[in-house]
Formats: sequence, structure tokens, C-alpha cells
Amino acid sequence: MGRAARPHGRHGRRRTAARRPGDAHRRNHRGGPRAPRDGVGARRGGERGDPRPGDRCDLGARAAPQRRGRGRLPRRRVRPARAARGGRPARRLDARPRGRVEAAVRPHRHAEPGPLGGGAVSAATPPDVPEVPRASGFTGPDAPALSDLQNCIHCGFCLPACPTYIATGQELESPRGRLHLIRGVVEGKVEPTPRLLSHLDLCLQCRACETACPSSVPYGRIMEDARASVMADRSTRPREWAMRARLLRNVVARPRVLRAALWFGRVYTRSGLQRLLRGPLGRLLPEPLANLEAQAPTLDRAPFRRSGELVERRGDGPRVALLTGCVHGELYPQTHEATVRVLGHLGCEVIAPPEQACCGALHAHAGDAEAARRLARRNIEAFEEAGVDAVIVNAAGCGAAMKEYGRLLRNDEEWAERAERFASTVRDVLEFVATLDFERGLGRVEADVTLQDACHLAHGQGILAAPRAILDAIPGVDLHEQATPDRCCGAAGLYSTVQAAMSREVLDAKVADISGTGASTVVTSNPGCTMQIQAGLRRARRPGEVLHLIELLDRSYAAGFEEARA
Ligand code: SF4
Ligand code: SF4
Repeated sequence: MGRAARPHGRHGRRRTAARRPGDAHRRNHRGGPRAPRDGVGARRGGERGDPRPGDRCDLGARAAPQRRGRGRLPRRRVRPARAARGGRPARRLDARPRGRVEAAVRPHRHAEPGPLGGGAVSAATPPDVPEVPRASGFTGPDAPALSDLQNCIHCGFCLPACPTYIATGQELESPRGRLHLIRGVVEGKVEPTPRLLSHLDLCLQCRACETACPSSVPYGRIMEDARASVMADRSTRPREWAMRARLLRNVVARPRVLRAALWFGRVYTRSGLQRLLRGPLGRLLPEPLANLEAQAPTLDRAPFRRSGELVERRGDGPRVALLTGCVHGELYPQTHEATVRVLGHLGCEVIAPPEQACCGALHAHAGDAEAARRLARRNIEAFEEAGVDAVIVNAAGCGAAMKEYGRLLRNDEEWAERAERFASTVRDVLEFVATLDFERGLGRVEADVTLQDACHLAHGQGILAAPRAILDAIPGVDLHEQATPDRCCGAAGLYSTVQAAMSREVLDAKVADISGTGASTVVTSNPGCTMQIQAGLRRARRPGEVLHLIELLDRSYAAGFEEARA
């Protein structure tokens, strides 16, 4: 070791910091630790014993060291131990308190028991003192049930299915990690701090983990309950969560306000500005604005706002009611029109109760359980009055939420039973069509298609076979399966807006998967997925059509009709 590298000088002794400005200069030239050039670190006489951050000898320095020569610690004469000289055992100098700092930590000569970090390390609870259960950080009727959480056996089978774990590789962004956090709050071991809640907020609520779980952990309802409990407690509710809930209550759940807001979108599309910004002027937009623009839907069609009787009764076909929803008919009216035509073709009488409302799925996902319950009661009443055989839903997220109205209203004595009964009549349109004689009248549609399984159809409702059966039956359709067709596209309600970075990462992976199939048409079963995948393809500058599967089926019936006429 060279001189400059020796930590304590030539003889291995410790050096104190320079006492005088001149000392610093002299020490630097002897190869010891460098003193600050500006002299700021030089000590004054009255501070000799005080430790400073970075001092090597903080705890070893004596309170008032004698100085010999130039700032050195005193040399001690090494004497043989008394025991060796036949006297009493030598006193261990190191056992004495040394310096003010050490004295504060260890004031006595010998080690003593005492509290560490606020509690005795080895203290056991006396057997006659019962342990006081700690209060759960989740309160109210929606608090997650410990029995649900206890189903998790920490196997980790859900991790490879989770888009946020795949993107981050972080345990706390995985289903297992989030369940661990929620359980910690339920058991009162941790507080629902903003940092902890940020991990819950990054969850897409896609429920892919539920399908992967061998232990039947009801992740979806645990997460919804956790968010609802947070929202019910003003002291823990993050401001952004409250703002989202207000937006959903005051805009999405109010058709007039929503239509007024979307009017600006229609003007934007119809004025031609959207086409220009997606074409020649696109390069002028800064990236954040370009990303926002890519997400905006194209509102170039008249909205679907029909209600009452949509298809008259013919024969003894089923009488069904269609959920027209909040944004679906405004953004993708063609899906509702195709649904009505397909149901009519299959001999159904179709009505749309005018008193119906938004299904409340977005509200429930955002933790606003009260708003979701209000909307659920309104829908139950509206559809009950219609007296139908089935309530048909063509948005997977809405269907999954309506099938869970029974659970949503479980604590409401007046409504619980009605809600269960209503939920048993809800059908996704693809699920319903697959039970009818839908192969009659199909015509040829040439298309290379890939299917995006909407999370709330595949994982929320367990429907995977029906869409494939329909695609298989359409002549001319070639199905190209993705590597992970049931992996989330990153839409997840408001997620693409409130967690834009993660949403985009998940979407990029989805677009790569779609591109790998070579298909030119993507079929979905949820308007959120349609909008998100359209945005992803646009951003990747990939051509391709994205539509609801019911629209493809409608095209096939139209082609069949033309073929029959020819
Ligand atoms: S719901 Fe989706 S994003 Fe959330 S933990 Fe489960 S798999 Fe991951
Ligand atoms: S797969 Fe199920 S049991 Fe296993 S860690 Fe995930 S949630 Fe827990």
C-alpha cells in the first residue's frame, strides 16, 4: 500500500482533523486524508472533542485528547499487562465511555439491556396480558375481507400474467405484492399512505391474475373493496382519486353533460383539424400533445341515442333489452346498430329502456362504490319494468359490472335479492348469440383477423369460447391468434389517462403482439379496447381496422343476404 493510500499515516495511527489552517497544508503533503482547501473544515479550539460527519474517529476520540507534536493523538507507552507482571488483571481501556458521542449511546462501562428502536428486542408479551388487535386501515362496509386475502398462498403463479409486473419486474407492482400490501393494511400493520396507494393505483384491474391463480383468490373484488374503503375515508383519500370520482359522477353519469363535452370532439373531427393533425401537421405537435391526440376517438358518426322498441316482436323469439350505456353510443354508434340488426336477424324482440343509466363500472373501479350503487339501483328498476328474458350488453366491462350487482348491493336489505335476480339475466352479446342458431344466413367476409380478448370478458366473465366459435363460423375469416390474446391492452377505463406511461408501455407490447400475427383486422368486445388499440396502431403507423366482433358478424349476415338475392 502506498503512503497516500494509508488511512492512518505511516504508523497506522489515527489522525485528527487539522487544528490550524497551516496543518491542512502540511498534512496534504504528507499523504494523509485531505483537509478542505477553503479551510471550512478546520476546527476551532473550543470544538476539539466534537464529532463531525465523516470523521473516522468520531467514537474513538477522547473528550480532551492531549496533543503531542503536530495534531497527533498522544503516544501511549505499551506496558505489559499487570496479570503478566503478577498483579491484578489489566483494565480494558476500550470498555470506558469514550467521548461525548459514545457516552450518549453507551453511558456505562458494561453493556446493558434497554429499548432499541422504540421497543425491547427480546421482550415477550407476558402470557396474562392479551394482545390488543390493531385497527384495520380499511374501514366501512366495503373493507376487503381477510378471508379473501388468506386464500393467497404466495405461489407467484399470477406474476407472469400481470402486465404491470412484466413491465416493471417489481414485486410491489405484482398481484402478490399488492395483496400483501392490502393485507398489511387490513391487519393494521401498515398505514394506507399515498406511497402504498400508488401501488394499488397502478393496477389495471384487468383480473388476469384471477384466471392464473390456482387458489381462487378473488383479486378483482379485493382491489375494488380496497379502493372503495380508501375513498370512503376522507383522511386517506388521495386528492386525484377524489377528482376522478367527481369527474365520473358529474360528467360520465350525466348524459346531457357528457353529450355537451363530446360536442367539442365532434367539432374537432368534422372541422378537418383532426385529419390535418394526424396527417401533414402531425409533426408540429410536441410529443405529449401528439400522444394525447392519438388517443382521441374519431367522432364522425351520428351518435346512437335511440330508446323504446328497437326491433318489433316476431314469432316466439326472446324479448331482450339492450344496455346503451354512457359513452358507447356516443363514440361507437355503429356497434349498437350492428347489435340491434344481429339480434333482429336472430328473431329477437329488442327494446332499450329509456330510464336506464350508465352501468357504474368505471365508478366501482375508481372506488366510488356509492355512485356505482346508485346507478345499479336505477338500472335494476328500469330493466325490471321492461320484463325481458335477458339484458344484453355489448361492452365487456359493463357486462362484468352488471353481473356483479348482487355483490355490490349485498349490504342493502331492500335491494340485495333484486340485484341478484337482475344479475342472473345479464348476458354479453357474444355469449348470447352463441346460444342461438347464429350460423344460419352467414355470408362470406374475406378477412385476416386477430381477436383481442377483452379482460372483463375473458377474466371477468370467463368467456373465451363464444367469440372464437363465431369467428370460426364466418366464411372467409382467417383467425390469427396472438401470443397473449387475453393480455390487457392498457385501456382499463380511465387508466390510459391517469397512468399514461404504464398504459402506453402495456399498449406497445399489445401492438407488437398484434403485428406479429400479420392480421389486418382486430376484433374486440369492448369499446375501451377498440379505442386503445386504434390509438396504438395509429401511433405505430400501422394500418389496420379495429371493430367489435358483432360488427363483423353483422357484415357476414349482410353478405349472406346479398348472396341469397344474387
Ligand atoms: S388486475 Fe391485472 S394489473 Fe392488477 S395485479 Fe392483476 S394482473 Fe396485474
Ligand atoms: S397465484 Fe393466487 S395464490 Fe398464488 S400468489 Fe398469485 S394471488 Fe396468491
